[in-house]
Amino acid sequence: MPNPRRSKKRAEPVDYGWVISFGCKTAGKLMRLKVDTDPAGDTSPIEVPCPCGETHRVIVSPYRRRRSAEEPFDLEVAKLDQLR
Ligand SMILES: [Zn+2]
Repeated sequence: MPNPRRSKKRAEPVDYGWVISFGCKTAGKLMRLKVDTDPAGDTSPIEVPCPCGETHRVIVSPYRRRRSAEEPFDLEVAKLDQLR
């Protein structure tokens, strides 16, 4: 028996947020900052409280969409404005 509510559902892309990668010299590795909103609106530098304990000035590039909910990240904010 067909379910009319289910057939109406559209295949919209799921929004997993965005990831900005930056190099941490202290930890000697690449960190990933997850942000919920599209960074394209304002790409001025951000001050990131890194897991290494320091705050790094980070250029908002490169960034890209997360492809899945399982994609790992090192820290997370809702908006980049929180880091300015
Ligand atoms: Zn760091």
